[in-house]
Amino acid sequence: TESLATRDPELYASITDELGRQRDEIELIASENIVSAAVMEAQGSVMTNKYAEGYPGRRYYGGCQYVDVAENLAIDRAKALFGCEFANVQPNSGSQANQGVFQALIQPGDTILGMSLDAGGHLTHGAKPNQSGKWFNAVQYGVRKQDSLLDYDQVRELALEHKPKLIVAGGSAIPRQIDFAKFREIADEVGAYLMVDMAHFAGLVAGGQHPSPFPYADVATTTTHKTLRGPRGGMILTNNEDIAKKVNSAIFPGIQGGPLMHVIAAKAVAFGEAQRPEFKVYAEQVVKNAQALADELMKGGLDIVTGGTDTHVMLVDLRPKGVKGNATEKALGRAHITCNKNGIPFDPEKPMVTSGVRLGTPAGTTRGFAEDDFREIARLIVEVVDGLAANGEEGNADVEAAVRAKVAKLCARFPIYPNL
Ligand code: PLP
Repeated sequence: TESLATRDPELYASITDELGRQRDEIELIASENIVSAAVMEAQGSVMTNKYAEGYPGRRYYGGCQYVDVAENLAIDRAKALFGCEFANVQPNSGSQANQGVFQALIQPGDTILGMSLDAGGHLTHGAKPNQSGKWFNAVQYGVRKQDSLLDYDQVRELALEHKPKLIVAGGSAIPRQIDFAKFREIADEVGAYLMVDMAHFAGLVAGGQHPSPFPYADVATTTTHKTLRGPRGGMILTNNEDIAKKVNSAIFPGIQGGPLMHVIAAKAVAFGEAQRPEFKVYAEQVVKNAQALADELMKGGLDIVTGGTDTHVMLVDLRPKGVKGNATEKALGRAHITCNKNGIPFDPEKPMVTSGVRLGTPAGTTRGFAEDDFREIARLIVEVVDGLAANGEEGNADVEAAVRAKVAKLCARFPIYPNL
């Protein structure tokens, strides 16, 4: 019965401090969002106490009748949301969803073809330090030198040369829509599975603002916490019954034990929210906001990789201003605008330095920011970057303080979690 505040004030303070940070800062990290109070309530519920190895109706533990209800809701809503026949909602993360598919469909030593990290792919798509790069023969494609767009010719050439068992489409810093039909064609040419990792844009698919990976993908994986605006976690979708069976065995008992039932309950809530008409409006606004942000940043003298975005995310090329990604991330942080440094394609700088930052609109849009607000945010970013350009890594403290004050005003207009 004792509250967290009195039982563990030290830990409690970290939570209230984090709440304050989220309330007072503009969140532009493209992979983050702000979940509803209902999602948090489900995640903070008694479902956290329950062991439920197995799947609804066939568990290895007693007392699973109510968690079964929650998991079935999550499954049914996910299937309806993405128009597919099968969903596994148990992966604890996006990485484990991808591992689950690999475990289901390929063997150690097999060849996979995915996008390289420095071109916008994810670690789990075959990067050297990741299990996917260590246990598989990972071949990597990238983007075209001339326009930084996904290089489908290279994908095809590498596929024909290396005959991968599985091709991964998707990534963490891809501002443009992916041509799933083209990937399907290439996969068919070499007899490979096509896995679409839609972690970043799943919410846009759910909201009808991005083409669906189906019917092209054999299997799609996603996180549930980015544009989809659910709890941190993963999910696997397919229309193929044989793949579905293999995926279920791969997740449990293949790579996981007891599923996180409180997270699955929260996933069900988020999927229910994403089925509502408001979510379509949200997803549409996410894209409009990203386009406004990109446009105003370009007006301020920054380059945007590929010249813009048709999703929620963009890569800002800082080189026209002569500043680096790491210094920019820090300076914007001092001004209460949160983002992450990110390599741009063919980046001459090291990964810990970079020539770019990655910006996204999912969290700010949830908050209520519209195009005008994002144009103002773009101008604030340019002010801070210009301060850096003129003063070196220290930046301009006066400019940063003035921007911080304007950020506070913007945030106060759109408060989050008023009841916490
Ligand atoms: N796949 C893509 C495309 C991602 O961007 C991410 C997250 O950054 C993941 C997978 C991994 O998700 P998680 O961080 O939940 O393991």
